[in-house]
Amino acid sequence: MIEVALASGLPAATAAWDEAHALGRALLETGRYDTIQVRVNNNTRSAVRYRCAARVLNLSVHWRVLGQTADLVELVARGSRPAWLSIQERLGPDPTPREVDLEPRGDIHDLAALAEAEQIWLPQPVQAVIGWGRWPHRAPERGLRFGSCTGQTPPVIRIHPVLDHGTVPGWYVGFVVFHELLHVAIPPTPGAGRRVVHSRTFGRHEATHPEFHRAHAWEIHEMPFLLARIAARVSGGGPGPRRGSA
Ligand SMILES: [Zn+2]
Repeated sequence: MIEVALASGLPAATAAWDEAHALGRALLETGRYDTIQVRVNNNTRSAVRYRCAARVLNLSVHWRVLGQTADLVELVARGSRPAWLSIQERLGPDPTPREVDLEPRGDIHDLAALAEAEQIWLPQPVQAVIGWGRWPHRAPERGLRFGSCTGQTPPVIRIHPVLDHGTVPGWYVGFVVFHELLHVAIPPTPGAGRRVVHSRTFGRHEATHPEFHRAHAWEIHEMPFLLARIAARVSGGGPGPRRGSA
C-alpha cells in the first residue's frame, strides 16, 4: 500500500504527488515493506527523514529531491552514503546566509585565529563561518553546549559567549572550535530516523587531538563556575560577569 501526503505550499503539487507515488512503488518493489507512507515536505532542514516499524515505512522527502528515485531507494532501503551525498548535492546550499554578521573577535579570544590554528588537527581542511553565539535568555536546564554547527553551506559555527572570559584558556576554546570544525570534516551519517552526530569515526578522530584529555578534565573542573556565570548573566540582565568587573 502506498499513501502520499503533501505539505502545503509546494510549487507543483501534481508532479510531487506523481513522483512520490513512483518513489513509493520503487520502495515497495524492494520487498522490505508492506506499506509506504510518503510525505512531501518543503523544509531543507529535513530533506530526507524515515523510520520503519513492522514493515511500515514512514518517509518524509523534500520536493526538490523527489525525482531522485534510485538514490532515495538506495538511501532508505540500504543506508547508502553515496546516495545521501548525491541527494544533498541536488538539494544545494541552504538559502539562509543571514549569519554573515557573526562576530569572531571577542573581548579575550579570537575565534577566527583559533579556527585557523586548529585546521592542522582535522583529517582535511574545512571552511566554515564562525562567531560568538548570543547569551541565552534562560539558564540551561540540561547539558550545556559550548558550540554548535549547522549543516548548511557554508556551515555556521557558534561558540558560547561564556567562553570569552579571561579565566578560560585559549587552548580550551581552541579545542571546542576543533570539535565543531570536526563536525564539518566528518558530517553526521544518516540513520533510520535520526542522524548519528558523534559517530565512532568522529570519536576516534577527536581523541587524537593533543588537548583532548586536558580539555575534558578542565571542563569538568570549571563547569560550576561556567554555569554560575551564565546564571548571573541571565538573572542580572546587564553586561554581567563577562567583563569580569564585579
Ligand atoms: Zn559535537
